Amino acid sequence: MNPSMRRPLVAANWKMHLVRAEARTFCRTLVGELGAPPAEVVVFPSFPLIDSVVDGLAGMPVAVGGQDLHPRASGAHTGDVSAQQLADAGCTWVLCGHSERRADHAEDDALVAAKAHAARAADLVPLICVGETGEQRKAGKTFAVLERQLAAVLGSEHGELDRFDLAYEPVWAIGTGETATPEIAQEAHAFIRSELARRLGDERGESIRIAYGGSVKPANAASLGAAPDIDGFLVGGASLDAESFSGIIAACGART
Ligand code: PEP
Repeated sequence: MNPSMRRPLVAANWKMHLVRAEARTFCRTLVGELGAPPAEVVVFPSFPLIDSVVDGLAGMPVAVGGQDLHPRASGAHTGDVSAQQLADAGCTWVLCGHSERRADHAEDDALVAAKAHAARAADLVPLICVGETGEQRKAGKTFAVLERQLAAVLGSEHGELDRFDLAYEPVWAIGTGETATPEIAQEAHAFIRSELARRLGDERGESIRIAYGGSVKPANAASLGAAPDIDGFLVGGASLDAESFSGIIAACGART
């Protein structure tokens, strides 16, 4: 990547893990490990942990985000959370379209786009996840899937998103221990970059970060991060441990 243009982004997706005492321990350890991070850092805890994480990381160069949001600003939507509520709780980011949301809650591309726009309405930065399943990859449909997922968020009826970043997360690599090779990941990232440039213009396309997600660990972060279009990581399992998460952040400092 070109460090002068895109500061790497390293994000922790805790999914439905940890309780408050564990979250506080994580924050204490991260505060001790972090120093001046060579990346923008975000932690995405589940909703009941947001308060503890916002408190635990106060004053640190680490942002906090929600793992999901409802596309509407408020209303009768039991169990859902709005962008405004996330912002009010201290979040500045939100995940949109994680493959587990797409699979577990049948979220389609249009809903993901609506959520991303709802995020911007409350000044949250959406980290929009895209990626193909193993079956789609085997069938040679990777680029078609990415094109469709991107088309929904880039060309939606809601107009142009003024700010967002992307995470390329091949579903077959999430939580499986099977990481995409840097070559496979770079190929997908380069395709995504070309779609961004085609739809938004070269300058804007170059400015949007594309993080990689899928079984990233301290041991594979540096080689993945050396690829020119990989601008950081969205980390699941390895982000639950503050030391391993710090190791992944530190790996971003190796790229020049
Ligand atoms: C994720 O949940 O976004 C993810 C990439 O998980 P893991 O790192 O565990 O594969």
